[in-house]
Amino acid sequence: MRFVILMAAFSVVTGLAQSADESADREKALKRWKANDVTRPVPPVITPGTPSMREKPGAPPSDAVVLFDGKDLSQWQNNKGGPARWKLVDGALVVAPGTGDIHTRQAFGDCQLHVEWAEPNPPQETDQARGNSGVYLMSRYELQVLDSYQNKTYADGQAGAIYGQFPPLVNVSLPPGVWQTYDVVFHGPRFAADGKLLRPARITVLQNGVLVEDNVSLTGPTDYQARPPYKPHPEKMPLLLQDHDQPVRFRNIWIRELN
Ligand code: MG
Repeated sequence: MRFVILMAAFSVVTGLAQSADESADREKALKRWKANDVTRPVPPVITPGTPSMREKPGAPPSDAVVLFDGKDLSQWQNNKGGPARWKLVDGALVVAPGTGDIHTRQAFGDCQLHVEWAEPNPPQETDQARGNSGVYLMSRYELQVLDSYQNKTYADGQAGAIYGQFPPLVNVSLPPGVWQTYDVVFHGPRFAADGKLLRPARITVLQNGVLVEDNVSLTGPTDYQARPPYKPHPEKMPLLLQDHDQPVRFRNIWIRELN
């Protein structure tokens, strides 16, 4: 009995050590690969479970702030503070190319976020021009949205990537036209009064119910071929959805603030 307890304790300890190692490796990899490096290995392709769950949007938890329920765009505005000009089509919020990014009227900090999205079908173009959009936590930290189903691009620009920093652990993307889900746990960065970074932002992401980002520590805001340093900002900022000129659809967006 004592041996069993000892073995159980041992496996808990080694399990913790392993996950710490993996997390350290993920951050070490940032030194090895430049942002958007085409030679960085791409993640393995896998198939998610329970696809039938995605035929209809589920109901949000009772304490969630509903950001889009298929009926109106009232929670969203354009970059100038006017009404969001994306389209409402069959209960989906659709990017209207060229109208610009949209962001929430309300600001959020640490949160749990749920977003559903579907790629244009049939797909158009290739690489980063195939169904590109993005979910920007605090309007600064992009969780990439892309058609990554049989579409070659750089690893840290795929769906499920923290753009330019962390490729997804696996490529669990579904075909264009099929609804996909993101479930995110995000802890924003903290800054001292003098602007010094006290702690970086951390993010965990499940795509289609599968872990793709495991509590990674962001290097700063996401950017194209760059990893700029943090710049101090408030503890709460709007959530932003990217207009990257492709008619990506969104639905069932809700958020729970974490204290
Ligand atoms: Mg994007």
